[in-house]
Amino acid sequence: MKGFTLLDRGKARQAVELLEQEYKDSKYYLNFKTPIDLLVAAILSAQTRDEVTNSVTPELFKKYKTASDYANAKPDELAKLISRVTFFGNKAKSIIKACTIINEKYKGQVPRKMEELLELPGVGRKTANTILINAYGIVEGIPVDTWVIKLSGRIGLSKESDPDKIETELTSYIDRKYWKNITYVFKNHGKKICQSQTPVCSKCLIGPNSSHRLCPQNGVSKSK
Ligand code: SF4
Repeated sequence: MKGFTLLDRGKARQAVELLEQEYKDSKYYLNFKTPIDLLVAAILSAQTRDEVTNSVTPELFKKYKTASDYANAKPDELAKLISRVTFFGNKAKSIIKACTIINEKYKGQVPRKMEELLELPGVGRKTANTILINAYGIVEGIPVDTWVIKLSGRIGLSKESDPDKIETELTSYIDRKYWKNITYVFKNHGKKICQSQTPVCSKCLIGPNSSHRLCPQNGVSKSK
């Protein structure tokens, strides 16, 4: 990673704590009421803006409420309802397959174990962690999304670029109490200050003008 500086663990932990305090009201961003809703919304959200996912799900959740409803859905009808999200055809197939497994193997209940969730089509560690945390309050890891990848590199929290390796590295030293919210904290900081193309380092609470000066970026960073 060009120009990358890894923070020492003490400073990295301090940077995370400051961001957690600053964005302490951060919450998961997709609308859902049940674990099945969440599973479906999370599958739909891959490479799709949250606003688009949230605009599609109200009608969807009205029509399909249970794993059995999705398992028995006609692929064309389901795909039509979600046609505003990217890769809607493949996502419709994944949802139907995942819900068929849930119906047959888990009596219609979204599983509560990481290894069981990872068997479902369309579900990787990010989605599995998201479901465990937000549907069941089970914190096993950190959902590593694009913001976590980007900010971990910029701030020097992880030298890795693979999401699973980033998760392993971050969970090795960040206090467990921060795991459940760190993804949403990073997302808020990314949207507000550490923007994708042009981070506003001069206004950042861990940036060059702050009293902490923890982030190794000098204010002219463009991207990771
Ligand atoms: S100093 Fe700049 S690059 Fe570092 S976290 Fe703040 S905005 Fe992002």
